[in-house]
Amino acid sequence: MTTLRSFIAVEIPPVIQQAIQHEIEPLRGALGPGLVRWVACQNLHVTLKFLGDISSETLGMLANMLTLEAGRVQSFPIRVSGLGSFPTPKRARVLWVGLHAPAELSTLQRGIESAAAKLGYAAEARPFSPHLTIGRVRQQATASDQQSIWKTFERSHIGDLGNAEISAVHLYKSELSRGGAVYTKLFSAPLKTS
Ligand code: ATP
Ligand code: MG
Repeated sequence: MTTLRSFIAVEIPPVIQQAIQHEIEPLRGALGPGLVRWVACQNLHVTLKFLGDISSETLGMLANMLTLEAGRVQSFPIRVSGLGSFPTPKRARVLWVGLHAPAELSTLQRGIESAAAKLGYAAEARPFSPHLTIGRVRQQATASDQQSIWKTFERSHIGDLGNAEISAVHLYKSELSRGGAVYTKLFSAPLKTS
């Protein structure tokens, strides 16, 4: 049996990925690669559901689920702006750029979350907080590293980086390697457009 590490996400158009990349360049320069594992530009996305290791035999079932859930929600616009971190600014693990979307995005996420739970995938304990992960703080970061991240963030301002219309949701395969994760689209489901 083949297993795949997989997740469901919304794709960000290359022009916005590049705008993010360009805008966070000073931040990357200031913090460097030793402290943060930066996300490759083409990997910037909005995760709706992390499925983890799935059997390739369940792909058809997941594709059906995604088609059904995507078909319930109207396509919607998103706006990208702002900078933040999880879980807190002074103890950052995940660095992100903000994603602003109407209620359709959380409706879509809730539908997928609950359909995935019915298929046996572990429910997400944390509330949905849409964001684009730009980097992950390395495990070995010290208190003084955390302080420099916080101070750098306080000095940084990320304005409006663009708008896009979201009209589909995708199931991805994720392959982890030392060079970074490689995502491959396995299946796409369209949102409602009329
Ligand atoms: P790396 O783990 O090497 O940093 P990555 O996080 O980009 O790479 P994955 O770990 O495969 O790649 O994650 C794919 C997506 O799922 C990412 O958006 C990630 O934030 C999210 N994700 C990963 N693990 C979890 C988890 N346990 N709970 C919720 N979301 C997760
Ligand atoms: Mg990960």
